[in-house]
Amino acid sequence: MNVERHEFESTLPGAHLVVLGGIHGNETCGPNALRKIISEFQSGKRQLLRGRCTIFPICNPRAHDAGTRYIEENLNRVFEVHANPSSYERHLATEIAPWVAKADALLDIHSMQSQGEPFVFLNAPTPESQELCEALGTDWILQGWPDVYATKPELLACCTQTFADRYKIPNALVECGRHGDPLADAVAYRAVLGALSLYEMVDDSEAPAAREGRHLRMTDLHVRLSADDRFPKVWKNFEAFQKGELLAVRATGEEIRAERNGIMILPSQVSALGAEWFYTGHLLES
Ligand SMILES: [Zn+2]
Repeated sequence: MNVERHEFESTLPGAHLVVLGGIHGNETCGPNALRKIISEFQSGKRQLLRGRCTIFPICNPRAHDAGTRYIEENLNRVFEVHANPSSYERHLATEIAPWVAKADALLDIHSMQSQGEPFVFLNAPTPESQELCEALGTDWILQGWPDVYATKPELLACCTQTFADRYKIPNALVECGRHGDPLADAVAYRAVLGALSLYEMVDDSEAPAAREGRHLRMTDLHVRLSADDRFPKVWKNFEAFQKGELLAVRATGEEIRAERNGIMILPSQVSALGAEWFYTGHLLES
């Protein structure tokens, strides 16, 4: 396959950070931010102070060229090494995943379909992954993904973070904003500098201030069953709702109402049938 990959190495020892962009082809903030970082390293404008950084700016090149989320299946649901890859995305995963397996840390850059503030996914809540999440400059940290998918194993073979956690590699996935929003490019760029700074690979004066982040927990996943499943309003990501509030309506007329006060997470107006439609969760009080 030969997915585009860039290697930068310092003469001083340090961590090996792997950064992924464009796991989903219609998400351009990762590719844009990583192009900028790559050209800074290549031109000598930026020096890698320690360790090694491996960058895959566009992990799904055919989907990127087509401006679609994926070609055959969601790369971030089949991200592992496949003995006999049966789809384009499984071929990509089989090429890229071994780089993650031998890294010291993983940063995976995404954007979302809905409007909303940037946030980071903390998958397995280890101190090392939490530290990486807090270094990326977003106000929100979302937990609970593995628990939600434990109830829906048919939807998730392996995502980038679950794969990294298998190898005990600290990891973070940043959702930088809405697809195509230029602000998301800046969030992505800042997140990469935050990760590089955490491992002393760039001067920390350039990195966002580390922050604790407000922690949210995702608890439920709703799958789209019909093209006519609909939302009663345009939900923003992390928009709050009250117990009893109407969240969504099935094509059958069945109403999905909130069982408790909470927040809407990653509502998608365009998800495929049988795929993730929206999640719900709540704020974790610290
Ligand atoms: Zn994505």
